[in-house]
Amino acid sequence: MIGALGSSPSGKRRDDVRNARILIVGGGASGVILAAHLLRADPARFDITIIERRPIIGAGIAYGTDEPEHLLNTRISGMSAFPDDPDHFWRWLQGRGPLDGVDCSDPFCFVPRHLYREYLKDIVAPWLGPDGDGRLHVVEGECVALREVAGGVAVELSDGRTEIAGTVALATGHAVPAYAPDAPYSGPWCSREELGIQPHGDVLIVGTGLSMVDNVMQLRRGGHQGRITAVSRRGLLPRVHAPSVPLKLDPADIPFGTSVSFLLRWLRQTVRWAEAEGGGWRDVVDALRPHTQGLWQAMTPDMRRRFLRHARTFWEMHRHRLAPTVERALREAIADGQLRIVAARIHGVETAGDRSAVTLRRRGGGEETVVVDRIIDCTGVLRDPTSGGSHVIARLVDSGAARLDALGIGIEVDPRCAIVGADGLASKRVFAVGPVTRARFWEITAIPDIRVQCAALARTLAGDVQY
Ligand SMILES: Cc1cc2nc3c(=O)[nH]c(=O)nc-3n(C[C@H](O)[C@H](O)[C@H](O)COP(=O)(O)OP(=O)(O)OC[C@H]3O[C@@H](n4cnc5c(N)ncnc54)[C@H](O)[C@@H]3O)c2cc1C
Repeated sequence: MIGALGSSPSGKRRDDVRNARILIVGGGASGVILAAHLLRADPARFDITIIERRPIIGAGIAYGTDEPEHLLNTRISGMSAFPDDPDHFWRWLQGRGPLDGVDCSDPFCFVPRHLYREYLKDIVAPWLGPDGDGRLHVVEGECVALREVAGGVAVELSDGRTEIAGTVALATGHAVPAYAPDAPYSGPWCSREELGIQPHGDVLIVGTGLSMVDNVMQLRRGGHQGRITAVSRRGLLPRVHAPSVPLKLDPADIPFGTSVSFLLRWLRQTVRWAEAEGGGWRDVVDALRPHTQGLWQAMTPDMRRRFLRHARTFWEMHRHRLAPTVERALREAIADGQLRIVAARIHGVETAGDRSAVTLRRRGGGEETVVVDRIIDCTGVLRDPTSGGSHVIARLVDSGAARLDALGIGIEVDPRCAIVGADGLASKRVFAVGPVTRARFWEITAIPDIRVQCAALARTLAGDVQY
């Protein structure tokens, strides 16, 4: 907290020194990786506090699962927290000794997600009290509001506590939908116990992406016998990982700022060309990864809207891939008849007692009604950041300290990740990282992008914080 103003032994003013206190709101992957970058950059300078509403850090929505079938969907080589040290996670895994039941002999394999949570905790261990040097603190609590005050930012917690720091970084992640306990719907990241489905209960999963696959794996591992129907408008499944040799794409080769239909034509042509050369679509998609933020930023709001409506599903099913073992297990679930994928829209839901009758209007014509015991919402993470259980973003927007982008998918930030207020001015003290910044960066949900963003923000803050 703020001490009395005056001079420190080094002759520097204490009110400046306190600016080296940085509060990070959200202790998921983004918050922890940012803390690690700040503390590595200049440990003597920073005093970091992570405010996390869950009892543990490093879990967030992705890495809290203990299910062994819930694998990382990114290879180990892409999951290092440090972009300048891509083998860091691989070395950590090797140092940890043999992994029970995990077949992983090189950095191109896929390991259970709970290991990543352990890794994240370990990368900040040198600073985390009481065993570390005490420069990193974790406060368990929910941040409900923050406001800039003279010389700093006051962060209010739901239990009435207030923390004050020179700088705040929002790492609040994805807006998680909240469901009433008696609703027929469950969120996408519930444990088997939370789902509360009887072994023979029938399940409808809305969405056919990676979270649907997680739920199917979890249900089957628990011995679930009931039928599982997964529905999405196109019924497309994520593609599987396979070795790729990304093309060398020069920025001059990429049609920045063109229409979405031109971009898609160019993509298809480039894939055909890669195939003719003996490669495949993965080589093109992987080659585009370093340029996707630039492509997004070159789009007008209308082009972005078109991309989200017409091209996003197509992009995401190629971009976010399944580990090969998970894909095999998914195929088995379809082949043995437990899982059915339907391309349809939901036309209506009628709930009577514990069961729901869901009418599906199939793509290409026809209707069917499925009667299920549970509906799991796996429609994806692209949500208005003011929705869901976290109120801090909504209050920032209401107060004018932040503003939503034209599409309502994130808050606006400047190139340095400072949040932009309703007046169009960038804050000098409040920054954001991770999915909450997707309006500016779009591809900012996976670790390979988040770690680069955290490294850049740490450099910015190391430069800004003055003694
Ligand atoms: C199921 C799933 C699997 C994934 N697998 C991978 C993968 O294998 N590889 C990959 O690269 N990416 C993966 N991702 C992408 C994922 O988005 C990122 O890797 C990562 O989870 C983003 O972390 P985050 O900290 O930004 O967000 P989140 O994981 O959403 O964490 C945000 C944290 O902030 C806390 N919080 C929010 N609001 C407040 C508040 N007001 N006060 C206090 N605390 C708050 C939350 O409790 C949470 O712990 C996956 C995503 C999902 C959903």
